[in-house]
Amino acid sequence: MNALNIDLPKLEVRRYSQLVDGKSGEAMSGERFERRSPAHGVVVGNYPLADVADAHAAVAAARNAFDTGPWPRMSARERSEILLVISERIAGNAEELAMMDVLESGKPISQARGEMAGAVDLWRYAAGQARSLHGSVPAGLGQHMLGLIEREPVGVVAMITPWNFPFVILSQKLPFALAAGCTVALKPSELTPGSSLRLGEMLKDAGLPDGVVNIVVGYGNTVGQTFAEHDDVDMISFTGSTQVGKSVVRAAAGNLKKVALELGGKNPQIVCADADLDAAADAAVFGVFFNVGQCCNSSSRLIVERSVAKRFEEKLAELTARVPVGDPLDPETRVGAIINDAQMEKIEGYLKGAIEAGANPLCGAERIKANAGLYYAPTLMSGVTRDMKIAREEVFGPVLSILTFETLDEAIGIANDTHYGLSAGIWTSDHDRALIAARDLRAGTVWVNCWMDGFSEMPFGGVRQSGLGREQGAQAIEEFTEQKSVLFHRGPRAGRWVPGV
Ligand code: NDP
Repeated sequence: MNALNIDLPKLEVRRYSQLVDGKSGEAMSGERFERRSPAHGVVVGNYPLADVADAHAAVAAARNAFDTGPWPRMSARERSEILLVISERIAGNAEELAMMDVLESGKPISQARGEMAGAVDLWRYAAGQARSLHGSVPAGLGQHMLGLIEREPVGVVAMITPWNFPFVILSQKLPFALAAGCTVALKPSELTPGSSLRLGEMLKDAGLPDGVVNIVVGYGNTVGQTFAEHDDVDMISFTGSTQVGKSVVRAAAGNLKKVALELGGKNPQIVCADADLDAAADAAVFGVFFNVGQCCNSSSRLIVERSVAKRFEEKLAELTARVPVGDPLDPETRVGAIINDAQMEKIEGYLKGAIEAGANPLCGAERIKANAGLYYAPTLMSGVTRDMKIAREEVFGPVLSILTFETLDEAIGIANDTHYGLSAGIWTSDHDRALIAARDLRAGTVWVNCWMDGFSEMPFGGVRQSGLGREQGAQAIEEFTEQKSVLFHRGPRAGRWVPGV
């Protein structure tokens, strides 16, 4: 038993259905697969295994719903009302959804609850955006011309989502696409499909017309690739690794579909000697160990002013020793399990390489045995230099690389020495330094004296190889629209192109 009194060995394994054209059911092949909790080693879900044929059926249903169905044609008020009903269903079932994410991903229950609250806010915000989407009318076209710049839904959107924040990442995309009037074919990661499939049931109950959202769970190289290549898909919205993001771009070139990408990061936090070092240390520990570091926003590089580096490392080690690691079902736990063996081996490979290259583990750097699950100790790596692999590549684990600097220019140089550009941060009490860093750090988000605070109102996304486009914020809905220019002539049309007529 655990703190929530869930008897895992006796847990009833939930059987899920896929959703295509409003019908819940099996994959065409009839095949199913299971998922084991990475934190406990027991089976927690059973799902239909979709293949290429199911992907085609999902796209065909979304295409038909877009071309002939009511969703893109109804008023924004009607769409908004349905989105609000969905947000209430999510809020009413938040604990169940959170538990699905916990059991499939190994993330702590307290964190999963927070993610559901964030997801509800995104759905509500998107419902509001449905009604505030506007085109425009340029004022200066002359008295005979009326130009309308209309906003139209982009069409059928394929969405591919990863396993690290299954429900939140879905909620950063789906309600905004629906608000715009698009229809959707969705492939969640086969490691964490439960909450997405459960949402499918809620969408139906909330009155979403058949075919508007279709959810099939299969592998990236079958279902994902089919979505990315499909000629009937008008846009693909992908969150995952930069490597797969690039292959999605190549596959999307076939019909030049619109592409939105939310990819990886190697996000730096700069800590200046004049900062509130206690607050910065807490944020550094939170920034890298949140979601066991399996986070695109993980602040996996810490760049500390040399004069305080030693003292700061001691603070970090002290805090790290107090981070509760273990059973995600314990509400006190802050760090849960690693998603799977492949990810665990990847983390171990990076640490081995870093130690061989001369970096020094201050703590961690080993597996933890608990609950028959996959746990890795929060790890601080001192003496990391910018050329080391661990300082350049996305580890996607609870591993902090600590580097040092003398001048702000040097710190910003180290921070920008990456092909990623998702987020960055600076801790300082000097406003001028903060403003300079905010200007010069090459990232989609810069946090000053805070880390990973996020709001539905704030756009999120990366520059360079961290992505294309923005989710959330006032423009989120516009990502799922195209502009159409419509020109009307008023009054008699003077002048002819053909001379002398
Ligand atoms: P991937 O980028 O491989 O997978 C993300 C999603 O894309 C999954 O649903 C996956 O399906 C799908 N996919 C895989 N191949 C294709 C393809 N050819 N065409 C279309 N879709 C595809 O991430 P992983 O889950 O394998 O994690 C590997 C690494 O990616 C991590 O270590 C981390 O560095 C990074 N990552 C970054 C994330 C972020 O938030 N930026 C999120 C997750 C991972 P399937 O699961 O079947 O492969």
